[in-house]
Amino acid sequence: MSDTTPVEQLKEVRASIARAAVDYGRDPASITLVAVSKTFPAEDIAPVLAVGQRVFGENYVQEAKAKWPSFREAYPDIELHLIGPLQSNKAKEAVQLFDVIHTLDRPSLAEALAKEIAKQGKTPRLLIQVNTGEEPQKGGVAPGEVDAFLEACRNRYGLTIEGLMCIPPAADPPSPHFALLQTIAEKHGLKTLSMGMSADYDAAIQMGATHVRIGSAIFGARSRPA
Ligand SMILES: *Cc1c(COP(=O)(O)O)cnc(C)c1O
Repeated sequence: MSDTTPVEQLKEVRASIARAAVDYGRDPASITLVAVSKTFPAEDIAPVLAVGQRVFGENYVQEAKAKWPSFREAYPDIELHLIGPLQSNKAKEAVQLFDVIHTLDRPSLAEALAKEIAKQGKTPRLLIQVNTGEEPQKGGVAPGEVDAFLEACRNRYGLTIEGLMCIPPAADPPSPHFALLQTIAEKHGLKTLSMGMSADYDAAIQMGATHVRIGSAIFGARSRPA
């Protein structure tokens, strides 16, 4: 990946998102590219910002805190998405730092976020992560528990839930997982579907993704796992 720059790869990814959208009869403008910059330093991100990308995803609160406040000063229209697991004791910083949180998946976190939203008067957009493959090591609410959790988020914690997110099991074909997420979202009238990464965003767009989270296809292979 080293002879192609992130800026060139960003352009290719944008073009292929647009192509997929047209192929599947969708408006390209209905799909938001979340450029996943986790593990990449500020000097890799700066050129991507300079050519107009504004929506970014990070996995870790501490890493985001180190990288993004100075970029936000230069580019106030940045939209920062938390796509990694969130500990309840980091809810305060997460509400301060992020515009969108994709990984709401348990009552204790819903409660912590509700408390911080009330305290800070700042409301990040919230997505519920669904563990479509019911993998024990992965975050997310089991598909059969989404109804109850959604109702608790709304009625018990007073949260507005915008949509759903999933990460299909690495060994499975992703499309059935994307279709399941789409079905659950439709049932509840949720409009945002965060699904699709570098390897499978075409299938996700076919199944209705509104947000694709793409890291390595833009920034190259990560040197440490995330
Ligand atoms: C790292 C990560 C991505 C991006 O993955 P790539 O395969 O590099 O595109 C997307 N979503 C989540 C939740 C991630 O942790």
